[in-house]
Amino acid sequence: MARQVETSTPNHAALGVGIEPSYDPMRGLARPHRVALFGSTGSIGRSTLEVARASPAAVKIVALSAHSQWDEAIRQAHVFRPRWLVVTRPDDARQLDASRLPSDVQLLIGPEHLEMIAASDEVDIVVSAIVGLAGLRSTWAAVQSGKRVALANKETLVAAGGLIMDLAEASQAEIIPVDSEHCAVFQAMRAGRRSELRRVILTASGGPFRSLTLAELQQVSVAQALAHPVWQMGRKITVDSATMMNKALEIIEARWLFGLDPAQIEVLVHPQSIVHSMVEFLDGSVMAQMSPPDMRLPIQYALSYPARWPAPAESWNLQVPFSLDFEPPDYERFPAIPLGLEVARAGGTAGVVLNAANEAAVAGFLDEKIGFTEVVPACRAVLDAHDFEAQPSLERIYAQDQWAREEMDRWIGA
Ligand code: NAD
Ligand code: MG
Repeated sequence: MARQVETSTPNHAALGVGIEPSYDPMRGLARPHRVALFGSTGSIGRSTLEVARASPAAVKIVALSAHSQWDEAIRQAHVFRPRWLVVTRPDDARQLDASRLPSDVQLLIGPEHLEMIAASDEVDIVVSAIVGLAGLRSTWAAVQSGKRVALANKETLVAAGGLIMDLAEASQAEIIPVDSEHCAVFQAMRAGRRSELRRVILTASGGPFRSLTLAELQQVSVAQALAHPVWQMGRKITVDSATMMNKALEIIEARWLFGLDPAQIEVLVHPQSIVHSMVEFLDGSVMAQMSPPDMRLPIQYALSYPARWPAPAESWNLQVPFSLDFEPPDYERFPAIPLGLEVARAGGTAGVVLNAANEAAVAGFLDEKIGFTEVVPACRAVLDAHDFEAQPSLERIYAQDQWAREEMDRWIGA
């Protein structure tokens, strides 16, 4: 689990002290980690495969899953030779010519197979890289069976964070964040005891519209919202970054993952995306994790932790002049941030409703049914109309998810 182990003696190996150049960080691995990659055709999925390709002694891909993009899934199956390839959209599976797959790769059709694989003894780590609440069931199965979960699918924690963290506690599953901010916090937290933590500062690139006025934001087109200045990501998270709803979801994700009081979470806009987040301890020391923006690093760390492996990307050339800027977020132009803090404080069903409302609103925006600046107010309206429950069961979470999507469709007038 992601909760920190109390430690006070410095680990010199971890600090890089006295390590000879020939040190092999993969030494001591009895066999490669057997990794099931759910959502392999997406942005995180492809980056995970680059990490796997760079460290074949440490990572063996045993399962891939794809919802569409067949050519890509088949190509991946030829390169990585997993035991299983899961097609999660049965309707589309008909278009897949199974004879194009290598004969040693078993094709499974239907999302329920993800749960079987997540629980399999042949899997050590599940990389949860499906987008949206669609990732919840397979993540749940992985957590329930005590696996390490390299978690990119933040929507799962936003919607069901309390239940997932309780489940992890019971099963001794390790949830290691892949989200770059949470990976940074996870790393920075190792500099002190959990009880010595004062606050967590999540950084945000500010998205493509950081400097636009409210009037300009109202004119934003779908194409503009899909052009992120720093990160190449899937469509949904790219829109979330532009509205800054991504940061709202990350506030809620951090609250559950690290067991924080929401009052301990702050957001700071940092356009260069070099400082991925910071942690302040009681004595005023602020620990930041820095690296050029590249998702392969947090993905690799979630696989290698507590070890570190050779850099998945080129080393940062610090001799090229650079500067780092920080500014507080503007709540008026980006009301998603205060909404995220509010939902983190409320807990209960507020997270699932915000997440579902946002997924439906983003779909509505991408279909040009609502404007860019309507996304967040629409989410607030759905949240305000919902029947709050403080301790929902998983069933109630699914029911509220369904309700919120329908409510958003009514709001949009679909
Ligand atoms: P993406 O849209 O590029 O990929 C999504 C993947 O999920 C694809 O493999 C797709 O086939 C699969 N998928 C889509 N709908 C599905 C469904 N209903 N059932 C099963 N599989 C489905 O998205 P992404 O950018 O890779 O993001 C994946 C997750 O990681 C999201 O939760 C996102 O918030 C999170 N994340 C992404 C980044 C990033 O840099 N891309 C960074 C941090 C966190
Ligand atoms: Mg992030």
